[in-house]
Amino acid sequence: MSEQSPELKQFCDNLAEQLFGRRPSLTECVSCGSTKVAPTDFRDDISRKEFTISKMCQACQDSVFEDLRDDLYDHSSDEPDEKAF
Ligand SMILES: [Zn+2]
Repeated sequence: MSEQSPELKQFCDNLAEQLFGRRPSLTECVSCGSTKVAPTDFRDDISRKEFTISKMCQACQDSVFEDLRDDLYDHSSDEPDEKAF
């Protein structure tokens, strides 16, 4: 039961096609269509592994994870909160 069934793979491909307007491919980024997805285009093994899962290029991974970091630090800022509304 650990293998991805053809039906599930089809479902995921269709979902990506609806979300991004293109089907997942090993030769281009599913998010922006960049072809900079060769192993040398990624910063480290983690990014390369992430590409096999999300099919996103390094730049898109960076922007996604930057957003996540912003969210994390948004609520635990070290700076004094002196916003006056
Ligand atoms: Zn991209």
